[in-house]
Amino acid sequence: MKLSIKDLNLKDKRVFVRVDFNVPIKDGKVEDDTRIRAALPTIQYAISEGGRVILASHLGRPKGERVEKYSLRPVAEHLSELLGKPVAFAEDCVGEEARSKVEAMSDGDVLLLENLRFHSEEEKNDDEFARRLASLCDVYVNDAFGTAHRAHASTAGITKYVKQAVAGLLMEKELEYLGRVIHNPKHPFIAILGGAKVSDKLPVINALIERKVDKLLIGGAMAYTFFKAEGFTVGKSLVENDKLEAARAIRRRAEDAGVELLLPTDHQVVDSYEPIKGQEPVSKTIPIEFTNLGHVGLDIGPETVAIFSKALEGAKTIIWNGPMGVFEEKPFDQGTIGIARAVADAADKGATVIVGGGDSVSAIHQAGVADRITHISTGGGATLEFLAGDELPGVAALNDKN
Ligand code: AMP
Repeated sequence: MKLSIKDLNLKDKRVFVRVDFNVPIKDGKVEDDTRIRAALPTIQYAISEGGRVILASHLGRPKGERVEKYSLRPVAEHLSELLGKPVAFAEDCVGEEARSKVEAMSDGDVLLLENLRFHSEEEKNDDEFARRLASLCDVYVNDAFGTAHRAHASTAGITKYVKQAVAGLLMEKELEYLGRVIHNPKHPFIAILGGAKVSDKLPVINALIERKVDKLLIGGAMAYTFFKAEGFTVGKSLVENDKLEAARAIRRRAEDAGVELLLPTDHQVVDSYEPIKGQEPVSKTIPIEFTNLGHVGLDIGPETVAIFSKALEGAKTIIWNGPMGVFEEKPFDQGTIGIARAVADAADKGATVIVGGGDSVSAIHQAGVADRITHISTGGGATLEFLAGDELPGVAALNDKN
């Protein structure tokens, strides 16, 4: 167990909180504040305990340079509205300005530092940079689960230079729910995986089979690599040709372990051989075995949604990561939305449902079922790595209880 912010005395302390404020910003306004809201419990807790709250985050990929569109300034304004109190802003996360702004803080004040990734040293986990960040604070709190799989200066290096490095409330919640899935999931335990690539998900699939998941439901482009490996025609659907053997190995391993592996039975395709000039290609639903060389599979079909939904009946634990189709483009979002409804129904019937990854989480919101889901993880890659059994560097770097 990791030490928690609740284990510390924060009064009069400079509390450095690594948050994940990597939010979409348009015309200087925060477009989606889900991640900011997710960090509010920790921030409010630190304020109420009399800490001086110094917040740090990355935003986008400015590649070690100051890029105005990736400035966190709009986030300071937005956060100030959410907290109902002023949030100071430092134009740089290290150096004189940051130092003097920290010195000017009183108990309960909040300061947001500028984008950590304006310095290339952040992603390099540079020791000197980590030391400079640490020099701003007395205690360090990591509440950015979504970046905990990266060993960066603000997630790993900094912990060497602070007396105490602890988990924030959001981090704790993630570790609790995901930890439960890894260590003692209630059965039937079902995993639903989708998205573009099998290669991204190989470690997690293998770990899930090892942990005796009862059923593995696979959708998205990933499924086509499995189909091609079995000799099916997949047309022009997205396939990883160098992962055919890996797909066969997964099938064998699943069978040996008694894991039921379900693939789509129908899909939504467009026909690349019959485009009508100036018109969107028409999509149609066909059984997988009717796929011809010109078809591009872009979503699971309604029969698959029904079969997957039925497979979830009676589940006690469900984890879901990755869309069932090209979720960004209508009508290819329908399979993913259908699965969002199905996991919410399963949650209503008593299953612990954990959803992670950008598209699956969006689908949960679009389907209007977010409040029925047990835990919506803020991590994509971090969630997958955690479920694959890897120790996340940003978690490993925190102090253990006792
Ligand atoms: P991932 O980042 O691995 O979770 O994959 C997400 C991406 O997979 C999304 O951008 C989807 O558009 C894409 N995707 C899902 N299904 C398909 C498909 N059948 N064909 C092409 N791309 C897909």
